[in-house]
Amino acid sequence: MSKSLQAIRGMNDILPEQTPLWRYFEGTVARLLDNYGYRQIRMPIVEFTELFKRSIGEVTDIVEKEMYTFDDRNGDSLTLRPEGTAACVRAVLEHGITGGGQVQKLWYIGPMFRHERPQKGRYRQFHQIGCEVFNLDGPDIDAELIVLTWRLWGELGIRDAVKLELNSLGTAEARARYRDALVEFLSARLEHLDEDSQRRLKTNPLRVLDTKNPDTQAVLVDAPKLADYLDEESRVHFEGLKARLDAAGIPYVINPKLVRGLDYYSKTVFEWVTDKLGAQGTVCAGGRYDGLVEQMGGKPTPGVGFAMGIERLVLMLEALDKVPQALSRQVDVYLCAFGEAAELAALSLSERVRDQLPDLRLQINAGAGSFKSQFKKADKSGALYALILGDDELAQQVVGFKPLRGQGEQQSIAWDALAAHLATCVVQG
Ligand code: ATP
Ligand code: MG
Repeated sequence: MSKSLQAIRGMNDILPEQTPLWRYFEGTVARLLDNYGYRQIRMPIVEFTELFKRSIGEVTDIVEKEMYTFDDRNGDSLTLRPEGTAACVRAVLEHGITGGGQVQKLWYIGPMFRHERPQKGRYRQFHQIGCEVFNLDGPDIDAELIVLTWRLWGELGIRDAVKLELNSLGTAEARARYRDALVEFLSARLEHLDEDSQRRLKTNPLRVLDTKNPDTQAVLVDAPKLADYLDEESRVHFEGLKARLDAAGIPYVINPKLVRGLDYYSKTVFEWVTDKLGAQGTVCAGGRYDGLVEQMGGKPTPGVGFAMGIERLVLMLEALDKVPQALSRQVDVYLCAFGEAAELAALSLSERVRDQLPDLRLQINAGAGSFKSQFKKADKSGALYALILGDDELAQQVVGFKPLRGQGEQQSIAWDALAAHLATCVVQG
């Protein structure tokens, strides 16, 4: 196939074999968020480029190198969203739903786009589920976000494989004081820094802490520590969060180098990381962004949130063999009909059954091939039972009911009794 007719590198089809696991994951998260009182919001996939520059920050990996930006036909610069927070803040501001101090606990799901080097766990179109909470400024809500993700890991069976890393970035003022100290320290050691860090030192010095370069890391060992510059308010907030995590029995490690890539964070930042996915180890990341709404033209509004990467979590479920068994069976009952009259009867019979059992997963295979080949398909579908409807059954208004898994002889069931019979052996069983 010519390259221009293939999918774009790093933008993947999610095939029918994979979608059951995706839906299981998404459904589990959605139910949990509903139960904690979060409400879903859906934002467009495209926004004005300016929105991301203003909120994420000009000197960040995302804005500098990763955005899909284009001019539309009016000449406006638009960008495929690289993350969800900016658009969510835009939406709450635009609709005035936080401006009076109303608490909003929101979540979203959908594709995000970043022009990165594709590799396992890192794609150019990927999917996130995220939460954003507005107008709650205490550590209790930071803790709730972490507690609910911890519950999610429990439900998915992957708690043992993830680790929580925490840090506090302090208020904007505290961070500014720290930045000055860090710049002074690093400027005196400029020749020992890698090129990227030298550049960041001028543009976004905190990001130097993020470096993967061993020489720069060595320089950082003696650098001033952000923790020593924390303001009293942030310190109390951070202690409050830790106390709540302790009370909830959630283990964590403090990672003083955790600064997160985006400009808008303040106070709490956290990441859930795993060693099961190689280099792409962060499965969920978030933090507090108390200054962001104001920075975008709203009233001062505390905010906190996180986003998790669906691809990475799906990969983890597979790697840890935590794909629920039930997902391998997408069909309960497989109806094989033979002959034109039986086919017609099969359609109306199956619709009657569906009326009574809306949750039954019933697949009809009518008219396609011999008895043997239909039966093979029924078996391959994973269905628990096959129903057989040929001329004899039609004449007697019955179906043949044959268990496909385990023991059990074929029985004849009257059409009128079929739904009740299926209810006992499939829906309840
Ligand atoms: P990383 O350090 O891995 O680049 P990030 O800090 O850029 O991650 P965030 O912007 O915090 O990531 O996004 C939250 C989550 O979304 C990440 O923890 C990850 O699980 C997922 N994610 C981010 N970028 C990608 C991507 N390109 N492909 C797949 N998942 C991604
Ligand atoms: Mg990134």
